[in-house]
Amino acid sequence: MKQQPSLSNVIVIGGGPAGLTAALALTDHGLRPIVLERSQQVGGIARTESYKGFRFDMGGHRFFSKSGEVRDLWHRILGEHFLRRPRMSRIFYRRKFFHYPLRPLDALAKLGIVEGFLIVLSYLRWQVFPYRDVDTFEQWVTNRFGRRLFLTFFKSYTEKVWGIPCTELKAEWAAQRIKNLTLGSALLSWLFKPRNAITSLIEQFDYPELGPGMMWEAFRREIESHGGVVKLGCDVVEIAVESDRVVGVHVQTNGKAEFIPAEHVISSMPVTEFIKKITPPVPEAAARAASQLKYRDFLTVCLIVDKAELFADNWIYIHEPEVIVGRIQNFKNWSPMMVPDQSKSSLGLEYFCNEGDDLWNTSDAELVELGKRELAQIGLVEARLVEDGCVFRTEELPDRRPQRTAPVQQSGPRHAHRPVRGTQPGPGRDERPVECQRRPGLPRGSERAARRHERTTGCPAKAA
Ligand SMILES: Cc1cc2nc3c(=O)[nH]c(=O)nc-3n(C[C@H](O)[C@H](O)[C@H](O)COP(=O)(O)OP(=O)(O)OC[C@H]3O[C@@H](n4cnc5c(N)ncnc54)[C@H](O)[C@@H]3O)c2cc1C
Repeated sequence: MKQQPSLSNVIVIGGGPAGLTAALALTDHGLRPIVLERSQQVGGIARTESYKGFRFDMGGHRFFSKSGEVRDLWHRILGEHFLRRPRMSRIFYRRKFFHYPLRPLDALAKLGIVEGFLIVLSYLRWQVFPYRDVDTFEQWVTNRFGRRLFLTFFKSYTEKVWGIPCTELKAEWAAQRIKNLTLGSALLSWLFKPRNAITSLIEQFDYPELGPGMMWEAFRREIESHGGVVKLGCDVVEIAVESDRVVGVHVQTNGKAEFIPAEHVISSMPVTEFIKKITPPVPEAAARAASQLKYRDFLTVCLIVDKAELFADNWIYIHEPEVIVGRIQNFKNWSPMMVPDQSKSSLGLEYFCNEGDDLWNTSDAELVELGKRELAQIGLVEARLVEDGCVFRTEELPDRRPQRTAPVQQSGPRHAHRPVRGTQPGPGRDERPVECQRRPGLPRGSERAARRHERTTGCPAKAA
């Protein structure tokens, strides 16, 4: 007789989009997963925060997927509360709005004739004598647009966001994001395919009416309605492995220690932390590789402004070099329901930083003042119109660890992360999923010796 799947032995670490989606998929197969979430709310980086009835999206989350299955799932879960919204996001520089992604002609028109001429000269110089070896972001963008445009539009913002010199970011990273745009192709398309500038600024995306957290709250309810469990305030402090098989996790819930047995664990917590929490410890090579993965942190200064309309964009990129704010979200333009009083607006000023640096350690009150000052400095909002503010880091987490942005892709060995993919890394073993599992074919008696071998040499023992 076919064995029924066990109904309570799958643990999912993390109640962000990945963890909740995995858990929901498990319920489709008759399983009842337990989701363990460290903070007091679901959604992870894609949560919605609130203050005095105003809602704030930590990052500005567009729901856009090429997968019909994913789109259908989101629509099924949120139904009529999933709005279709227009997108507008531009670059703010020298008190002017520039098209984003950058359109060279739009940029040239706004920068003025002299600067435009210098940019074209620089572009031609780099077309004739480009970098031959293109390894870095700086080289890639310079070859495409010329050095002057790189210095004007790419260098300062990219370095603000990632905290890494453009000479150390990979060229691939630029290629993924800037795609098929060149100054030449933009000129041709302007000459032969004139387009309505306003229409081309606007795309559309889907968005929950109360911010992205609304989606993940609905996922949570759906999981629970199918018998799954979502535990909040539950910090996974250790993942216990015996004989190369996960046996459960140790958690701290409101200061209370508990062991939750499990046969399967799916982790969506940061890989760096996951690897450190496995006991017995993973081989040195995996631990070293995990510790080398780099993340960037950010904090959002949220300001309530006593003005109904500020600017038309959902968010703007701040290229002004004299301020450190990186992007500004205008939440009312994401969804009017993010703001309880339509005579007011709310902004999210995103500051990219690293945990423990000066900005990170600045008090909330000072950060609110900094936000007000910078808004006035670049001529966007008068300070007197800002009536209140707050700051969101990740204070609800017990160890005050910041939210992470995407892992930073630095120029360097392409597959430095590979040993982290399995818990027993080594040649040929680097494509295993992060889920802990027993290596097939090793008889139980030889497990301990195999593990010792792997730990000391970093190489996997051969299956019997
Ligand atoms: C600025 C910014 C803008 C973005 N914009 C978009 C966008 O427009 N569209 C889009 O699709 N994506 C966007 N993203 C990406 C999106 O936020 C992430 O892809 C998504 O949140 C990742 O989900 P996740 O579940 O993998 O991780 P996370 O959201 O990080 O969730 C992980 C969860 O694990 C929990 N956790 C960690 N450690 C433990 C532990 N020890 N015990 C228990 N729980 C733990 C955390 O509290 C967290 O809730 C953006 C990201 C950023 C930073």
